[in-house]
Order: sequence, then C-alpha cells, then structure tokens
Amino acid sequence: MHDRAVGRGPRVVVVGAGFAGLAVVTGLRRTRARVLLIDRHPYHTFQPLLYQVATAGLNPGDVAFPARTLVRRGGRADFRQGRLTAVDWAARQVELADHGRVAYDYLVLAFGATTNYLGVAGAEQHGLPIYTLDDALAVRRRMFGSLERASAFGSDHGELTVVVVGGGATGIEMAGTLAELRAATLARDYPRLDAARARVVLVERRDHLLAGFPERLRRYALSALARRGVEVRLGESVARVGATEVVLGSGAVIPAGLVVWAAGVGADPLAGRLGCPQGPGGRICVGPDLRLADEPAVFVAGDLAAALGPDGAPLPQLAQPAIQMGRHIAAQIARLSQGGTTEPFRYRDRGIMATIGRRAAVAELSGGLQLTGTVAWVAWLGLHLVTLLGTRNRLSVLLNWAWRYLAWRRGSRVIVGG
Ligand SMILES: Cc1cc2nc3c(=O)[nH]c(=O)nc-3n(C[C@H](O)[C@H](O)[C@H](O)COP(=O)(O)OP(=O)(O)OC[C@H]3O[C@@H](n4cnc5c(N)ncnc54)[C@H](O)[C@@H]3O)c2cc1C
Repeated sequence: MHDRAVGRGPRVVVVGAGFAGLAVVTGLRRTRARVLLIDRHPYHTFQPLLYQVATAGLNPGDVAFPARTLVRRGGRADFRQGRLTAVDWAARQVELADHGRVAYDYLVLAFGATTNYLGVAGAEQHGLPIYTLDDALAVRRRMFGSLERASAFGSDHGELTVVVVGGGATGIEMAGTLAELRAATLARDYPRLDAARARVVLVERRDHLLAGFPERLRRYALSALARRGVEVRLGESVARVGATEVVLGSGAVIPAGLVVWAAGVGADPLAGRLGCPQGPGGRICVGPDLRLADEPAVFVAGDLAAALGPDGAPLPQLAQPAIQMGRHIAAQIARLSQGGTTEPFRYRDRGIMATIGRRAAVAELSGGLQLTGTVAWVAWLGLHLVTLLGTRNRLSVLLNWAWRYLAWRRGSRVIVGG
C-alpha cells in the first residue's frame, strides 16, 4: 500500500512510551515524520527492574525516564500525556480520557499488556501485581509496613510470609530477592523479629519453573531458590486469595501478609474495546508487516501485538520482540512515506535470561549456549545496565548494585508514602 501523505511529512501518533513505542520514535528520528508520542504517564518505565523497586533495592526514579527528554532527542517528535480511550477509525483520530482528539496519518498502538488475574477469586482485590511503578511502590509499602507493625506489635506466622504466585522470570526474581533481603537485613534491621519465621513461598501451577527456558536452567533456578530458603510449591494452583491467606487448589491454606501476583500478563481491556480482532491472550491480530488487516495506516507493536515468530507461534511478551517490532514499524512508515511498500517483520531471537539473586542467574543465548551462576548473573547485570535509559539512571543503578552486592547491603529502604 502506498502512502497518502507522501512528501509532506506524515503525522505519526505512537500510543505507549514502552520499549516498542520508543523504538518507533527513535527509528523515525531522521525522517520527515512529525511524531507525537502519547502515554498515560509522563515517563517510560523499565519494567524488568520493577521488582528491585518493590524490594527497595532501587529507587523509583532509577527505572523511570522522562518521556519529554526522550522525544527531545527524537528530531521532530513531541509528547502528550494522555490515556487512550478510543480510536475514531473513519476520522483517523485517537480519543483521550481528557476529551482531547489527535489526528494521525499513521497510528502505532503500543500500549502494552496488563496483569492477568486468571479469574482467581480475590486475586485482584488482595494480590499485588508488579506491572507499573505504582504497583512496585505498593508492594514496597505493604512489605515494610508489615515489618514495622510486626516489630512494634508482634506477629503471627502469616504477617511475615510473602506468597509469590507465578514461577516465571518475574516470580523467581521477586522470590529470590525477598529471600536475600530476609537473609541480609531482616535480623540486623528488625532485631525484635524472628527472621526464621519470615517465609517466602513461590506457587507455580506447572510442574516446573521458567516456562520457555531449557530444562537444565529450570533445574538450576529451582535449586538456587531452595538454597535461599524459598519454599517452592510446584504443580499447585491458587484457588482463592484472601486478605490474610492464600488457598491452594489442593485445599492447603498459607497464611500470608503479602501476596505478589506474578502469574502472567493479559490483554488490556482497551484492546477489546477498540474493536480490533484479538488472538491468543487477547493480543491484537496483525498482518506479517504488523499492520491491522482492515486499517492499513495502523500498526500494532510489543506486548499488545499477536505477532508470530519463525515457528508460527506468537512471540513472547518480552522487551526484545517489542524493540524489534518498534524498529520494524519505523522502517515501514519511512518506506510508505517515500512511496514504497511494506516488508514482513522477522524476529531475531537474542536469547532469554532471568536472575535468582546475587551471583545466580540463568541465560540461554541466541546460539543455544546456556549459562548459569556468576557468569549468567554478570551478563544479566550488564544487559540491564546497557538497556536502561539515561546516564543518570545507569550510574544510580550501578551505585546501588555495587553497594548492595559488593558490600552486601541495601542501597535504599524507603517506605514511600507509608
Ligand atoms: C515486572 C516485569 C518484569 C519483566 N522482566 C522482563 C525481563 O527481564 N526481560 C524482558 O525481556 N522482558 C521483561 N518484561 C516484559 C517487558 O517489560 C515487556 O515485554 C515490554 O515492556 C513490552 O513493551 P511494550 O512497549 O509492548 O509495552 P510496555 O513497556 O508495557 O509499555 C506500554 C506503555 O503504554 C502505556 N499505556 C498503557 N495504556 C495506555 C493508554 N490507554 N493510553 C496511553 N498510554 C498507555 C503505559 O503507561 C506504558 O508506558 C517484564 C515485565 C514486567 C511487568
């Protein structure tokens, strides 16, 4: 399909300042496109490190980057804070919650996914996700609030127990870090508490952790968690989450002061309200070039897009697919603007990794090479540091990590808003 706005710099509206949206903005930097980035927050969130904010290893500002600074580097790009509520397909305009309307020649939908509570009773009411910065701060507040209360008034077993639901990368990172927090600082900072009574329980409905990782790496992760004292319950599903307990499908009841819900992501209900065709997990179906079949001026990227990998299966909802989709879309918009046609998207697998804690991580690189332990952990630290946006953020994270891992201390334990 050829562009209707050839020669006059198309108006490109990008909804979502996540990995995918930013890759679009960056990719269009040297073109004539007039880009408007829209996000409900005035900042980009680096989700892979949210669990470290939740466990007070990092400060909120370390994993957020101002959207306006980003667009300033993006040539003709501009930023508008706003929450997308609808798209007027006929008029080619997006509608925002503040009643603003913005016209586009090309639209990129990249507003990500959201927490999936899997229909479990009480999960949304009592479980805390770690999907946004606010979520991470809520976990942090609840956790340190409980510790302070227990220190002042005493506690039963439940108050000091954290149940993490979901044995994917986020779940194991959260559980591993909590176990390390308990070992490194609980006894020292809360001498009135019995650290041995603070349990970290990880519940996973599959019979293994880290779906998508090779068997050897899954076994490594399991033993690394066990070594840290995490009670891993495999093959157990959560039937109900209450205010003070988690009830498993087997009927077992785990008293809990905090339930971290890391059992997966689902489509934002907005995806359905827009009327786009939805595929697996509610993600929006796209053509090979990442456009909507009925709206050739509209691209979908990142977690929101049901793009297919080389094996025909939907791509994992991870940063690399989002970044690569964003870059591809920028290139296609540039091609269309110059009167060309689109090319199909091809994903290049760069590997996967997850960390369990200090000097313990797993990684599978693109050639199939598997790493565990300190080597994988150093690779994990390096990759996250490089991918993080902003020199100030990188320096701050590096300093916090150096303090935490070398001196084996926490960089910050702030109960924000508590
Ligand atoms: C806790 C956690 C840990 C993770 N760890 C890893 C990891 O280690 N490695 C890895 O590769 N991936 C990881 N991921 C997944 C990775 O972060 C996502 O795959 C990636 O962020 C997807 O990018 P995206 O641009 O599609 O969406 P997002 O990064 O989610 O960005 C979506 C943006 O859209 C905005 N938005 C949402 N709704 C609206 C609306 N209605 N209007 C306007 N703006 C809106 C949001 O504010 C957000 O800025 C993790 C995810 C989470 C939640």
